[in-house]
Amino acid sequence: MYSLLKISFAFTFLLLLVGCKSNISISYDLDEKGKEFQDYPTNIILLIGDGMGLTQISAAMYSNNNRLALAKFPVIGFHKSHAANELITDSAAGGTAIACGIKTNNGNIGTDENGIPTLSILEELDSMNFSTGMIVTSTIVHATPAAFAAHRARREMYEEIALDYLDANVDLLIGGGRQYFQNREMDDRDLVNEFENKGYVVMDQLYTTMNKIKWPLDKNLLYFTADKQPLTVSGGRDYLSFAVRQGVQYLEQKSNKGFFLLVEGSQIDWMNHANDGRGVVMETLDFDRAIWEAIQYANKKGNTLVLVTADHESGGMSIEAESRMNKLKYGFTTNGHTAAMIPVFAYGPGSNLFRGIYENTSIYHKMRTVLGLKERINPLSPNPSSE
Ligand code: MG
Ligand code: ZN
Repeated sequence: MYSLLKISFAFTFLLLLVGCKSNISISYDLDEKGKEFQDYPTNIILLIGDGMGLTQISAAMYSNNNRLALAKFPVIGFHKSHAANELITDSAAGGTAIACGIKTNNGNIGTDENGIPTLSILEELDSMNFSTGMIVTSTIVHATPAAFAAHRARREMYEEIALDYLDANVDLLIGGGRQYFQNREMDDRDLVNEFENKGYVVMDQLYTTMNKIKWPLDKNLLYFTADKQPLTVSGGRDYLSFAVRQGVQYLEQKSNKGFFLLVEGSQIDWMNHANDGRGVVMETLDFDRAIWEAIQYANKKGNTLVLVTADHESGGMSIEAESRMNKLKYGFTTNGHTAAMIPVFAYGPGSNLFRGIYENTSIYHKMRTVLGLKERINPLSPNPSSE
């Protein structure tokens, strides 16, 4: 009887531990006293929570003892997320708006409404010898990262997008989707081999856990976190914040011009599509941990602008009656996306420019402005659209 009691006690304790997992034990203490920021940033860390609207943020905060790293941001604005052809955007048009500064049709990756390729800010900065990176929790060829380094008519062209990455020269790529690089359907090419020939070290989480990576400063790094889609947070995925912490150090050392890092909390959107409120909170809190890494870095360095936003809201999520702190009830109005305005959070030099209400394309133009990029160069497009 006694041992049975002991076992049940231990089991309850275990349950408590598991139950607490969604709460983050972060101090959220940032020493900002006497903090000197540069006038303009050298580096930009852009974090996109796919499908992360105000309710997703609120739900994560109220499920985490009323705290979030996002609450540290002094400057907040809103963007209008609509696409060129529809009021409700998808992640392809939404990503392209932020990456390339143009409204395009849903489904288009880094191309305008007529299918003409448009240069992204990441590609432009790469051509100026900035180091660049993309760290995501989807496949690395999914719509949001693809908008920053590929140019395709349709977002489903994953194997073609992988081909575009061969030429994009992104210093750091972390995400799932190895299957689009090896054992491809459209051809017999082994892109892992081709990336290695182009000066990449290619690694896989299956064989090298992230804390065992020897970051190759004289090469680029392509690191696969899954053959297909990475796990969900509740399924055990936990690399995002660690990757951001290590990734900024890596990119900082790879260029003395500066760096541009895109980070995506990709699966917030998928939990919205599934109307899984608890999943939304888990994914948003995971993303918030990555945000915390970014602002700690920015706070230390004084030369880095951190931007957090989403491409759109999805789920039409609500926090329902009878909800209490850390015990929420969720509602959803759709399995798809919505047209609600999306918050933009800015921290660090140049952040003041991000106040107000503006189009999603303005995020691109504001980033170029704070980096001092006056003349738009767009060798990919015969008709560069005006600023
Ligand atoms: Mg996405
Ligand atoms: Zn979606």
